Amino acid sequence: MNLKVSDFKIPEELEEYKKALVKFAREVLDPLADKIDKEDSVPEKVLPLVRDAGLIALPCPKEYGGMGLSLSQWWPIMEIAGGVGGNIRLIPHNSSAMWKMIYARGTEEQKRKYLLPFVKAEKLASFALTEPDCGSGTDIQTTATKQGDHFILNGRKHLITPRGPLAKPFDFCHVVAYSKDRSLRGKGISMFIVDVDAPGFSWSPMPDFIGLHGYPHLVLNFNNCIVPAENLIGEEGNGLDLALETFLTPSRWSIGISCLGLAQRMLELAIEHSKVRVTFGKTIASRQAIQQILAEMATNIYALRMMIADVGLKLDRGLNPAVEASMCKNFGDKVSRQVSDAALEIYGGIGACSAYPIERLYREARTLWLEEGTPTIHGLIISRDLLSS
Ligand SMILES: Cc1cc2nc3c(=O)[nH]c(=O)nc-3n(C[C@H](O)[C@H](O)[C@H](O)COP(=O)(O)OP(=O)(O)OC[C@H]3O[C@@H](n4cnc5c(N)ncnc54)[C@H](O)[C@@H]3O)c2cc1C
Repeated sequence: MNLKVSDFKIPEELEEYKKALVKFAREVLDPLADKIDKEDSVPEKVLPLVRDAGLIALPCPKEYGGMGLSLSQWWPIMEIAGGVGGNIRLIPHNSSAMWKMIYARGTEEQKRKYLLPFVKAEKLASFALTEPDCGSGTDIQTTATKQGDHFILNGRKHLITPRGPLAKPFDFCHVVAYSKDRSLRGKGISMFIVDVDAPGFSWSPMPDFIGLHGYPHLVLNFNNCIVPAENLIGEEGNGLDLALETFLTPSRWSIGISCLGLAQRMLELAIEHSKVRVTFGKTIASRQAIQQILAEMATNIYALRMMIADVGLKLDRGLNPAVEASMCKNFGDKVSRQVSDAALEIYGGIGACSAYPIERLYREARTLWLEEGTPTIHGLIISRDLLSS
């Protein structure tokens, strides 16, 4: 099957496109995701395949080569990618939010140099906030000191998701660092574009993760790393706000969508299995105990889907649904773990065997749990809002 997004007129034929994408996901992407997981390497054909299927350009702005889908149109497509999981899911997850930082506050030169090739998948980008020796946010230790026409970065990041193999894990990275006095807290943090070949920048692989095999996650080292002043995104001191508004909120929502896709796929697999597995002379689907489990899975998925749709509409209206995005992330985690537990129960013993797709998706649900912040931190964001009035 040779799916090309250019074969469809978006959005009039979006339904048509989605149907073709589901077929493409089951026939081409699922086997590839299994192969990546088992062999722990990503074949070169994956990026062009995913790009040609429209999964990178669809949500990006038209003036930079994208197809300009609204987020309400985009999330059902991201849900399909969430059902594939692994490094394939990561590509559209990454592209759905990563372009916005440069788009919102970048200079025309930054847009030409980084955004245009990013949308065409000619340049790959990562995002680096988390550090090994402190909490994420205003506790970060990485610093950027202005010297003439450049900044000098010092510090370390870890757990950073790469976009390519260890030899060249990305072309550039959005890096968050203190460039002003720490007493300014959030207003002292800035965001920089760091090219992979910047002097003083190096990286090393981290040990294997539960899921997300294919490329190793990274420790990034900034050792008097030289970054041209023109690589500052927006104003000095607006880096944390920029990250929260343009990247972290849509990205947390997108993790919720990934959880939704994964849970929906688990439900489909559990239904299929329950209809063919016969014990004591009957299919397990005919047992009320199994029917109750399926009903609870579907109910949770439905509730999550409604939350995702609501945040999509709010983002499209230009609102800042940061609290709702945290709710989607937290509820998405719960649903994907509950549904993956239930699917494993319905599969019985063979569900734990890697010959069956739920084994990989089950592990994937455990990494989604931690991506883009823990449940406790999202609980703090939600309750801070509740208690502020
Ligand atoms: C698969 C994967 C991919 C990732 N990719 C990236 C990436 O590309 N870029 C990036 O920057 N990061 C990335 N991360 C990091 C991820 O965002 C962090 O792991 C996550 O935000 C939690 O931060 P931490 O690991 O520093 O946990 P910690 O801050 O060490 O937290 C440990 C525990 O303490 C709790 N805790 C911490 N502070 C408080 C507090 N103030 N009050 C109450 N409880 C608290 C937490 O909730 C958690 O339960 C990735 C992580 C994973 C697992």
